[in-house]
Amino acid sequence: MGGTFDPIHHGHLVAASEVAHHFDLDEVVFVPTGQPWQKAEKTVSAPEDRYLMTVIATASNPRFSVSRVDIDRPGPTYTIDTLRDVGAAYGPGVELYFITGADALAQILSWRDVEELFTIAHFVGCTRPGHTLQDPGLPDGKVSLIEIPALSISSSECRERVADGQPIWYLVPDGIVQYINKRGLYQDGNH
Ligand code: ATP
Ligand code: MG
Repeated sequence: MGGTFDPIHHGHLVAASEVAHHFDLDEVVFVPTGQPWQKAEKTVSAPEDRYLMTVIATASNPRFSVSRVDIDRPGPTYTIDTLRDVGAAYGPGVELYFITGADALAQILSWRDVEELFTIAHFVGCTRPGHTLQDPGLPDGKVSLIEIPALSISSSECRERVADGQPIWYLVPDGIVQYINKRGLYQDGNH
């Protein structure tokens, strides 16, 4: 599951858990992006902060892990590189699923090397509140759409709430509230 995770929240974790259950996956690897090319205009928190929050949020689940491939690779993050690097780390024979939100899935055809993407991984698009799923004209059998119990949580809203002094308890894991406070993230409202 790729994402900016700025910060990781319970929407991400529920989506990962639901997809893992649905497809009987052995593991969900969370991959925080390096510099997300879709978000180049915006200020994104330091990769190391986003990586550590992802580790904190997933630490208690034995089936969740975190990969540094995207934050350690210089330059903007492209999903094709993420899939190649994660695939290489697990060796031949690994069956890859790329979990993404419905909003991101809608942009999928604009991604680089889209044909090759579908040969490397099965794509899973999660519904999220406010995004209706439409068939974006993707190849048959390469993409599954999964309904996730509605969780109207986004990282942007969490950042805005922190900047406004509103609580984010229960939108994100407790350790993430504490990490954000400790590091003083999102206080300036520049997000
Ligand atoms: P932002 O508000 O900054 O765009 P975000 O909440 O969308 O952040 P990302 O890190 O961009 O978080 O999301 C990573 C992936 O998780 C994306 O594919 C996104 O669509 C999906 N996702 C985010 N929030 C939810 C949610 N509440 N339910 C299901 N999927 C989600
Ligand atoms: Mg998003």
